Amino acid sequence: MKLILLGPPGVGKGTQAARLKKHFKIIHLSTGEILRGEMANSSSVGIQARQYIDAGNLVPDEILLKMMNNRLREKDCAGGYILDGFPRTIPQAEGLQILLDEINHELNAVISITANQDELVRRLVLRAKDSGRSDDTESVIQERQRVYWDQTAPLIHFYKEKNILKSVDGLGAIQDITDRILGVV
Ligand code: AMP
Repeated sequence: MKLILLGPPGVGKGTQAARLKKHFKIIHLSTGEILRGEMANSSSVGIQARQYIDAGNLVPDEILLKMMNNRLREKDCAGGYILDGFPRTIPQAEGLQILLDEINHELNAVISITANQDELVRRLVLRAKDSGRSDDTESVIQERQRVYWDQTAPLIHFYKEKNILKSVDGLGAIQDITDRILGVV
């Protein structure tokens, strides 16, 4: 099973990805988590990424594409994965498509999790209290929402045209949302 989870910050992509990982016994690749790991190690990618992440902006496409190009070619990806937070721009989606064709991987579905924006900001402000994330401050939260609608939401149309988009309502109990996702894949 090879899935992409799409949705604005705070919609619960990480929570659902962890559950889908267990259900399908596949790996969960969160580019946000990978980048935070790189920052913690002060690697060259981490050092380059920090300024963008702390401002709530996207890290440049070339960095993400290179990182995911290496990662998706690793052996543990052959059995399936959930991409959480990638792709986030049209150039990333196009680059991903070229890579997947090269390595003979086919996506089963792109799941777009939807929710009301005020609810998302409320959730993120709550999460900020104990997340320890350097990008969980109210102004950066607002910026990340803006970036999502501006740069990532166009992917909904991109994948709809490819006939692999499935929309799922992200409001409600965690288990209900998981059930909705399992119902569409
Ligand atoms: P996330 O944990 O998915 O909310 O990601 C945290 C931050 O990492 C984002 O606000 C971006 O700055 C950066 N990031 C994660 N994934 C990507 C991506 N696919 N493209 C660009 N930047 C990304």
